[in-house]
Amino acid sequence: MKTVRIAVIGAGAAGMLAAGHAAERGAKVTLFERNTLLGRKLGITGKGRCNLTNDCSPEEFIRNVTGNGKFLFSAINRFTPADTMALLERLGVPLKTERGKRVYPVSDKATDVVLALKRYCVTGGVQIVCDRIREFITDETGKITGLRSQKQTYDGFDAVILCTGGVSYPVTGSTGDGHSLAASVGHTVTPLIPSLVGLTSDDAVCRETMGLSLKNIAITVTDTKKKKIVYRDFGEMLFCHFGISGPVILSASAHLRPMESGRYLIHIDLKPALDEQTLDRRLLADFGKYKNRNFANAFDELLPAKLREPFVKLCGIAPDKKINAVTQEERRRIVTLLKHLPVTVTGFRPISEAIVTGGGVSIKEIEPHTMRSKKCPNLYFAGEVMDLDAYTGGFNLQIAFCTAHAASEAICDAEQI
Ligand SMILES: Cc1cc2nc3c(=O)[nH]c(=O)nc-3n(C[C@H](O)[C@H](O)[C@H](O)COP(=O)(O)OP(=O)(O)OC[C@H]3O[C@@H](n4cnc5c(N)ncnc54)[C@H](O)[C@@H]3O)c2cc1C
Repeated sequence: MKTVRIAVIGAGAAGMLAAGHAAERGAKVTLFERNTLLGRKLGITGKGRCNLTNDCSPEEFIRNVTGNGKFLFSAINRFTPADTMALLERLGVPLKTERGKRVYPVSDKATDVVLALKRYCVTGGVQIVCDRIREFITDETGKITGLRSQKQTYDGFDAVILCTGGVSYPVTGSTGDGHSLAASVGHTVTPLIPSLVGLTSDDAVCRETMGLSLKNIAITVTDTKKKKIVYRDFGEMLFCHFGISGPVILSASAHLRPMESGRYLIHIDLKPALDEQTLDRRLLADFGKYKNRNFANAFDELLPAKLREPFVKLCGIAPDKKINAVTQEERRRIVTLLKHLPVTVTGFRPISEAIVTGGGVSIKEIEPHTMRSKKCPNLYFAGEVMDLDAYTGGFNLQIAFCTAHAASEAICDAEQI
């Protein structure tokens, strides 16, 4: 049986799994990485803890892929979150599952995942070359016959798997080289936009509460142009110097397309556990207790300290008004504001700060079962270089792992026929 020779470009999550798996299947693999360290982005995932997958079914996984989920149907069914977990445990990384089925290493160290995948490659005999691939060399049929870096040319490969990632967090090495490499052999690259990213806002409440993290809040996002609610979520968010961020905001950002300044309005429900009537009764009780205080001190028990002053301003009620002089109509306004604190979004933070890149090599030009290019017969793709992105929760790494598995399986299967 012929030994298949594979070049994997990019040693991130996708590249290391693709290389390790192909080597395990008997292929001769060369893994190219532009950095001297492998998996730099993987090493900072999940705030350094690496939420490596989500312990959910393939169907649930697809529901959490915001862009082009159906494309992954075959790949995710052949390499499920359970398969990712079994592989990592086999590679010596004990795992645990936390809230929302998020899976982490028991050690809480993303570097354990990086080292395990590197070990997977090294023990399988993968040759690791630290070099930045800049060009494909093709023959007259369009097949890739070699790879060129600034220093030298590499050849002798039957297939190439492109795993260079997106353009977010470019300091980790993902700068979009794969997009230009793919374009050089005829691929379309869909517009690159930030996904899972902080949102900018000029609203004073953001500046004034900068650094405040709110837990157990609910958000509703309205597309004011279409007069339609585009997203709802419950969880944690953060006010920052530029606007808003934190888990529910990052997830919401994946739904704000197209982005236009002022188009999306976020309403924050500061008290989701209380309906308006119950909240009004609670306000009445608080106001009864503190009737001789100034209105500026009305929310000492209801709101975090940093939010009180900005909230009082938003109410449009004089801070030195006595609480017992607050009218019923004013109280109604306060309840509405507690349940629907508005923040108008002006845009995304830059793509370099995004957790993932939306857009990439068009999936219309890639075979979903094999990840093979429809433009170039021996080119395959895996991971974020493609136009695929998902919510937070371990889904993006699972995209990298299942597409990497599909590509290396397809190459090994084809070459053994
Ligand atoms: C701060 C942060 C936290 C995240 N946390 C999570 C999380 O907890 N869970 C989750 O599911 N997702 C998370 N993500 C998203 C996840 O990290 C990515 O989706 C995933 O790493 C994509 O894997 P990849 O292998 O496709 O690309 P990458 O991990 O970006 O790897 C691409 C590799 O290719 C190399 N490369 C690029 N160009 C070349 C070239 N020309 N030649 C050679 N090598 C090249 C790069 O140096 C890099 O090592 C997070 C992202 C960020 C930024």
